Amino acid sequence: MPMHSRRNFMKLMGLGSLVSLTPSLLNGAGNTTPHIVIIGGGFSGATCAKYLKMWGGSSINVTVIESNATYVSPILSNLVLNGQKTTADLSFTYGASSSKYGITMLHHTVSAIDTTNKSLTLSNSQTLSYDKLVLAAGIDFEPVNAYDYNSVPHAWQSGAQINLLKSHIDAMADGDTFVMSIPPSPYRCPPGPYERACVVADYLKNTKGYRNCKVIVLDANPKIIVEEATFSAAFTKHGVDYRAGCDITAVNDAQKSVSYTQGGASQTQTAKVLNIIPKQKAAPIVFSAGLVSGSWAPVNPLSYESTLMNDVYIIGDSQGTGQPKAGHIGNSEAKICADAILRNLNNVALYAAPKTNSACYSPTSKTEASWLSAVYRYDSATQSMVLAHKESGPSSTQNYKQMFLWSENLFADTFA
Ligand SMILES: Cc1cc2nc3c(=O)[nH]c(=O)nc-3n(C[C@H](O)[C@H](O)[C@H](O)COP(=O)(O)OP(=O)(O)OC[C@H]3O[C@@H](n4cnc5c(N)ncnc54)[C@H](O)[C@@H]3O)c2cc1C
Repeated sequence: MPMHSRRNFMKLMGLGSLVSLTPSLLNGAGNTTPHIVIIGGGFSGATCAKYLKMWGGSSINVTVIESNATYVSPILSNLVLNGQKTTADLSFTYGASSSKYGITMLHHTVSAIDTTNKSLTLSNSQTLSYDKLVLAAGIDFEPVNAYDYNSVPHAWQSGAQINLLKSHIDAMADGDTFVMSIPPSPYRCPPGPYERACVVADYLKNTKGYRNCKVIVLDANPKIIVEEATFSAAFTKHGVDYRAGCDITAVNDAQKSVSYTQGGASQTQTAKVLNIIPKQKAAPIVFSAGLVSGSWAPVNPLSYESTLMNDVYIIGDSQGTGQPKAGHIGNSEAKICADAILRNLNNVALYAAPKTNSACYSPTSKTEASWLSAVYRYDSATQSMVLAHKESGPSSTQNYKQMFLWSENLFADTFA
């Protein structure tokens, strides 16, 4: 990972001192300061903006366009369900982006991108031009049919949805059934749904004291896709009814029921609380800009520049490199992208051997958590990111404590 400081970046480019990094140097063709616009201020977008300004200084202008003035982290959000965290604890604003790094923050939604004229239209009809555009806009859902997310929350984007799911769980009585589904991979945060099943089952039994509630998991995948031994053991401990290979065919919000096929047989399951996590794809703005092939955006992993459009970069959950869709690795991709943009503006070759790192901590109860980490490296033969190393740690109280140290670091590196 090219985690060099701005001074190292200067050395790398053969420029003598920080003072010499002027707009004219970076923008060799003319006198104007390059304008880099980032859509989305989540883990990938906020990191990219921060590192662009840390490394590029006053030689570039960086604008982040983010719909919301407050970002609520999906990371740790399952702990809102069992009352160990609140959404306020997981909320971040963009004060540091503006005051510390000189990033221009605009709180609007981008409604259209004109890649030919390199301009954007915002929801208030304002238009904005860019030299380089970074899309860090997260995910969108593909539900099997239309239904009301207020009756059947996904809670896979944080904030209102996670508080809603908590209120549904807190309205359960002893003997009620909680049913959740896991979409086919790839989806945001591979261990996240398995951790949610554990957290909810533990909460109902050990905090609420309900001995007769059922927690049923309908997994579209043929088996638990990550940390299989850890989650299998936790499911047994918490009495979770785990069903693999379930293809959701219909969701009925009025009946609170879900229909699915498993091994060729059709079944319908009713629930007091239904938590369907739909199949996922790149964010709407990535689709409407024509930057998607299949469900995700193809990019060059050396830079995250779209393979379909020059000067447009896609990082975080929307990108289609095959790396996991997670905040920690989104932060990693953001730094590679920031470095690549600055190199490109200065006619310096791209760093040829980037590495990224993914890390997820999974609470399995209100006192224990497991972890999973993977390193990816660029493989020049296939021009893709490949798994270089993977490790995991079991559920323990020690790992539960480590989880907060890890998340504080990630939150600070992104938003402070
Ligand atoms: C329960 C759960 C647990 C998780 N645990 C972990 C974990 O342990 N480790 C880990 O690494 N990851 C974890 N994740 C995954 C992580 O939260 C996501 O992968 C990460 O948030 C993706 O970052 P992003 O920047 O791509 O997208 P997001 O965080 O979704 O940010 C996208 C932003 O773009 C904005 N936006 C979108 N479209 C527009 C537009 N048109 N105009 C303006 N703004 C726009 C949105 O408002 C949003 O703020 C977890 C997720 C969940 C749900």
